[in-house]
Amino acid sequence: MREYFELRDTDVGGRIGELTVPRAGVTVETPALLPVINPNLDTIAPRRLADEFGAEILITNSYIIHGTDDVREQALEDGLHDLLDFPGAIMTDSGSFQLSEYGEIDVTTEEILEFQHAIGSDIATPVDIPTPPDVSRERAEAELATTQDRLEIADEIDTGEMLVSAPVQGSTYPDLREAAGRHADSTDLDVFPVGAVVPLMNDYRYDDMIDAVAAAKRGLGADAPVHLFGAGHPMMFALAAAMGCDLFDSAAYALYARDDRYLTVRGTRHLEDLDYLPCSCPVCTSHSPDELRALPDDERETELGAHNLHVTFEEIRRIKQAIRAGNLLELVEQRARAHPTMLDGYRTLLDHAAQLERADPVSKGSFFYTSHESARRPEVLRHHQRLDRLSVPDSLFLTEGDAAGGDEFDDSWRVEPPFGPFPRALSKSYPLTAELPDRTDRAALEAAADGVARLAAANPDAELTLGHTGWPAGVLEALPDGVERIDLTAGRS
Ligand SMILES: [Zn+2]
Repeated sequence: MREYFELRDTDVGGRIGELTVPRAGVTVETPALLPVINPNLDTIAPRRLADEFGAEILITNSYIIHGTDDVREQALEDGLHDLLDFPGAIMTDSGSFQLSEYGEIDVTTEEILEFQHAIGSDIATPVDIPTPPDVSRERAEAELATTQDRLEIADEIDTGEMLVSAPVQGSTYPDLREAAGRHADSTDLDVFPVGAVVPLMNDYRYDDMIDAVAAAKRGLGADAPVHLFGAGHPMMFALAAAMGCDLFDSAAYALYARDDRYLTVRGTRHLEDLDYLPCSCPVCTSHSPDELRALPDDERETELGAHNLHVTFEEIRRIKQAIRAGNLLELVEQRARAHPTMLDGYRTLLDHAAQLERADPVSKGSFFYTSHESARRPEVLRHHQRLDRLSVPDSLFLTEGDAAGGDEFDDSWRVEPPFGPFPRALSKSYPLTAELPDRTDRAALEAAADGVARLAAANPDAELTLGHTGWPAGVLEALPDGVERIDLTAGRS
């Protein structure tokens, strides 16, 4: 177990954890939101973030502080907590983002870590190389090697109680991301940001974002706290949390407010397009859209920023409750309907069902089948894996009906899409207690047929007969020839 991070609850890849930040003397519950504070212009004062929004941790940029003379002097003299007036934990970025934007910065990892320590940062960041998506493999490998050198330097420096992050790079090469995760995990560094995913998120490439996180997670241990670096929009937090991200930072609440953009968990709206405010936060219950539009620019920006933050923190709480209740994937399914690219992200998450299955609790409250994607959930995969281990009599009737099948079979099992066959004694155990729509869909039937095929493959000598309620020929084609079929709606076929 990592010394500073402890897992409390899990659901799919999502976890509720506790990140102990010794230098700040606080414990941050994850998933956590780190509002981004620009030390030169704060939309919402850090004290207000703590008191009104319950922010336990924020992130600011040590490189900007380092490069701004008066702020630097004040930070060195009074410390970051006094400078920002924030009682929680403060994480600092190193200037890597500036490096990716402007091509060069003028500090080394040693210098910036020393500086972060001197100004009282609680979680510091080395100067890694944020390799953008889609670069050549040669470049991704070379830059990753540099990042790994920097992490090793950071690992050697005595940073006292200050935690230090180990960014995981590797561009859009899953094997490099995985190797980067494994290397970062081998250091004694503490927090693991998945880096350089902002360009993916800016381009709505949630599928590639999920692949990058999944690869990093394969390299990192399950006990590593993972930070989705530059995650901004609350719409995708549930998806990223389900893949195993624990920390999210958000500059979006302030950047969007500056452009009169109003965040919702279903996407972004322009204030000028809103006739109603679909939110019950203090800003939205005390203003009409016209009143917001009539405010002076700076006041409007602050009010919109506050709304955006309320929505963002609310989503984090909703995610935590979903993890606790074991229905995080139901929340992800809802969010996936907000935008076609979110649906791509969710479908990509399900491509990693086998990876997610390993951490998913064996039993939860309920499985709601709410879309044909539900047929690919880790619970379905796990049931199919379990079929290999169940003992099967010589002749077995697998049926969607209630009938036991008569004397011609040794036993009769239930068949329920999307799970497929199971002994009746398991009917009351998760996930076979799932709530399913009466009007089943093709994906569920195909998954059930896969289950039958899997059972047949594991028991080549057993005689299996499937009693189905009019499955289409295309679905039945997936069954091995040896499985006899009876259409319960039409009699023996
Ligand atoms: Zn609101």
